[in-house]
Amino acid sequence: MRIRNLYRGGWLSNCYLVSEGSDAVIIDPSSPTEEITDMLARAELTLRGILLTHGHFDHILSLDSLRDATGAPAYLHHGDADFPTDASQSCYLTILGRDIRHRAADVLLMGGEVLTLGSMTFSVLHTPGHTGGCVCYRCEDALFTGDTIFAEGYGRTDLPGGNAMLLRESLNRLAGMQDEGLTIYPGHGLSCLLADAAML
Ligand SMILES: [Zn+2]
Ligand SMILES: [Zn+2]
Repeated sequence: MRIRNLYRGGWLSNCYLVSEGSDAVIIDPSSPTEEITDMLARAELTLRGILLTHGHFDHILSLDSLRDATGAPAYLHHGDADFPTDASQSCYLTILGRDIRHRAADVLLMGGEVLTLGSMTFSVLHTPGHTGGCVCYRCEDALFTGDTIFAEGYGRTDLPGGNAMLLRESLNRLAGMQDEGLTIYPGHGLSCLLADAAML
């Protein structure tokens, strides 16, 4: 499994391209679609799925254009099901000041699933708190944590769907996985070993 981060700077979130053989998965389509499809073409990869860690605008900017360009389905936890279509919940309106709406995700998750996307499998861990529908995706020893936990902190809970008590419970669950040798790939900032994350 290979992980590339297509992050383009500024307030955009990290955009991970995960690949195995000729199969690829995008975690949080925030980079411009042309950059993602250029990379897919250069590396001769086929996009099998688009995994959303949650529904905030900075993680879904290229959600529709990437689906149009590749036909790959988008996965999102049902707790954030309304976010892509609702510019208030996604914070496009409140933070960007723009009424941008996407189409809903293609597959709604409950948590606990094991998704087979091409030759890769991702387990879905529901970690509410930053939003109600936050999930972490685990593939081998990589854990894609979105805005639940960062190397140096954790997600804010003052945006729509935020709940500090739920976030604390989610962080406790992640703390229980510290001995599993996982590396976190968060929605913002650098990766680190889960066991070295500052806030666990
Ligand atoms: Zn974010
Ligand atoms: Zn967020």
